[in-house]
Amino acid sequence: MNATRTTCAYCGVGCGVLATPAADGQSAAIVGDPEHPANAGRLCSKGTHLGETLSHEGRLLHPEISGKRTSWDKAIAHVARQFRRTIDQYGPDSVAFYVSGQLLTEDYYVANKLMKGFIGSANIDTNSRLCMSSAVAGHMRAFGEDVVPASYDDLDAADLIVLVGSNTAWCHPVIYQRIMAARAARGSKLVVIDPRRTETCADADLHLALRPGSDVALMNGLLAFAMREGHIDRDYVERSVNVPDGFWEALENDHDLWSVARACDLPPADLQAFFDLFAAHPRTVTMFSQGINQSIRGTDQVNSILNLHLATGRIGKPGAAPFSITGQPNAMGGREVGGLATTLAAHMDFAPENRDLVRRFWASPTIAAKPGLKAVDLFRSIGEGRVKAVWIMATNPAVSLPDAGSVREALAACRFVVVSDCIANTDTSAFAHVKLPATGWGEKDGTVTNSERVISRQRAFLPPAGEARPDWWIIKEIARAMGWREAFSFDSSADIYREHARLSTYQNAGKRVFDIGCHAAISNLAYNAMQPWRWGGDAFADGRFSTPDGKAQLVPVSQMELGKPLKAWPLTLNTGRYRDQWHTMTRTGLSARLGQHRQEPLVEIHAEDALAQGLSDGGLALVATPQGSSVYRVCISDGQRRGELFVPIHWTDQQSTGGRTGALARSATDPHSGQPGFKNAPARILPFAADWHGFLIASVLPDPMPASYATKVRTKAGWLVELAGDGDPLAFAKRILPRGERIESHDSAHGQHRFAILRDGVVVAALYIGPLSRLPRREWLIAQLGGSEASATDLLAGRSATPAPDRGAIVCSCFDIGTITLTKAIASQRLMTTEAVGAALCAGTNCGSCKPAIQRLITQHKEAAHG
Ligand code: SF4
Repeated sequence: MNATRTTCAYCGVGCGVLATPAADGQSAAIVGDPEHPANAGRLCSKGTHLGETLSHEGRLLHPEISGKRTSWDKAIAHVARQFRRTIDQYGPDSVAFYVSGQLLTEDYYVANKLMKGFIGSANIDTNSRLCMSSAVAGHMRAFGEDVVPASYDDLDAADLIVLVGSNTAWCHPVIYQRIMAARAARGSKLVVIDPRRTETCADADLHLALRPGSDVALMNGLLAFAMREGHIDRDYVERSVNVPDGFWEALENDHDLWSVARACDLPPADLQAFFDLFAAHPRTVTMFSQGINQSIRGTDQVNSILNLHLATGRIGKPGAAPFSITGQPNAMGGREVGGLATTLAAHMDFAPENRDLVRRFWASPTIAAKPGLKAVDLFRSIGEGRVKAVWIMATNPAVSLPDAGSVREALAACRFVVVSDCIANTDTSAFAHVKLPATGWGEKDGTVTNSERVISRQRAFLPPAGEARPDWWIIKEIARAMGWREAFSFDSSADIYREHARLSTYQNAGKRVFDIGCHAAISNLAYNAMQPWRWGGDAFADGRFSTPDGKAQLVPVSQMELGKPLKAWPLTLNTGRYRDQWHTMTRTGLSARLGQHRQEPLVEIHAEDALAQGLSDGGLALVATPQGSSVYRVCISDGQRRGELFVPIHWTDQQSTGGRTGALARSATDPHSGQPGFKNAPARILPFAADWHGFLIASVLPDPMPASYATKVRTKAGWLVELAGDGDPLAFAKRILPRGERIESHDSAHGQHRFAILRDGVVVAALYIGPLSRLPRREWLIAQLGGSEASATDLLAGRSATPAPDRGAIVCSCFDIGTITLTKAIASQRLMTTEAVGAALCAGTNCGSCKPAIQRLITQHKEAAHG
């Protein structure tokens, strides 16, 4: 079977993939597309294992009303009727859509058109609000339009790459590999600015572990240095940049090296080294991500970076650009169609002339008069009863929004909740009155735009599961049922793309860079065959911006007072992603290979903080913020600054009891962008007491799991669940173990209880309870699930009579190679480069996502060898 050329489902790098479906229609062979400009054939671990996430397990296969299966006709009529009634009774602002960067551009376009042009409200916002809306607001303030003035080619041409608030090695691995290749080829310098020492720092020339939230002080300090030392590009500023009165004067005070070092809690020598690198390398790319955006001062932080590049003329030239890299696969497509409540469509805002233009183009009866509710405000309005009907598409706000407890209360109280999703049971769909089955990644057809403005086709290579339908189809059918038949007469995603392209060019006349009018009349054939292409070309290369006078704007920004930690909340909580998981794990959680990298959500903490709080490595801890609390496994890390904690965002109520980070984040937002400040919540931590600890391996899990801590990950033949609980462990075992032939052993003196359940000689479950230090290793036991070779003695011992060497925690998911194997090989075979490790063990030679981890082990070995 021929491979289908499509695009990865996950991050904003937007890698091209070649997908060859298997005969069962529920898996596929996936390889990188060598012809795609974003990745040239490379994929990270998540992309590589996409084929394992396509099964129909857990899929929503039929429309449901009040939990009962129904037909599409009935579901569509019901949703249309409820929305129509609500609007008639309470007005257009009483309804809302909450959509997703997982939607394709065509889906997004139809949803935005329906809400803003026909319902007449701008109450449509997207989960991209949570990851890059500060970049949008910053671009609009500086450039007059939300345009990312960079491409991946700039990373190849740059002499200095500065990564700010970005764990690129884990979150955008293919970009990281490209940076590494540029360093190897050209010796480009790399500076990482991040409070944590992540794997992205493994190969950096300089890591600045600044105080969280002090980015504006750092960037302003560098700008003041550039001013003092003559690195401002005066000709460029004269031609292309407006400088507000008093801008430079404001930088004169408190921006000397010592003051900035104090504000950022950095050694002055490191700061000076960074400034000197910047001064010496005009071809600088500053790439930033969630560490900058997800802050209550995110927009100012973005503008501090843009100011630096504009003032030094490092923009619109090869290898010189500020570069916002997006988290989601189609956050950029959503920005193009106006998927945010604060934009109208085709990069236009709500100015009267734009509203008039869009209304005429759509021939719509009405048009939203003003920006709508941003994500956090939208759910607050639902909670307050002002928004009475909401449609949530392809996203899981009951987990992902800050103060998720309040979001759940709001949804529980909402009169009408519609969820369209490909997954049947999410934390959000538990509140849905109507569930509409949407097509999944391998079944969808349309376009996406990646971080560098490249539009790529996403092509279906699998038939829809059950009665699933494309999101654009569901939205347009409901629009038609609401009475707008003609305006929503799209027959295909190509129809929608053509209309989107026509709107982008309609009376544009060069006012906006976003103009894809060259595709306004694209044929279905050409749309199907479309190659990845980049709109906007070398944006701003001519020094002209999308403002009335064509000049960019320096925006005065100042460092906010960071204050001292509060007595009740002495720590600062930071959140982020794991290398091998994506968002709320609805897809990556299906892959056993991806589950190996991190089998539990960990709270990373500095050793001295752990000691002060009575925490030990591998124990459990309760992390609390003013919003809520969750339980995590403790990981003592020398990459953490003192006073700071780090937890992953991925685990939900579907995968864990405890470990849900959405319960912790506060709902304070940036005043310009409305983006929540996920990164710096006040927090405390304390040991989590439990009567017993243990783990379960099982082909099928009981639901619910009656334990105070239970976190599951997928294994090859079932699940691994890490457990802690209170009360009698034997009563717990009785409740959760399945029927079958039961073998067991007990050592009550040491609190140890072990069980294995077999059916027809095949292991279907095994439960081990005991002190943490006495629990057996999981690896061998996981491999016995579904098998019949292990003896009863070995099963109860939790190990083979002839045990294989311990591999340690898995580093290379592609070849199942662990830390201990790598460490031993590095030492014994003197493997001093990642290439040498790859040649000896294969580790890192497939997707390469683990190369930074291997590099770290090599560095640790060298440091140990040199005393
Ligand atoms: S870097 Fe990985 S997750 Fe991101 S698009 Fe590429 S393969 Fe997908």
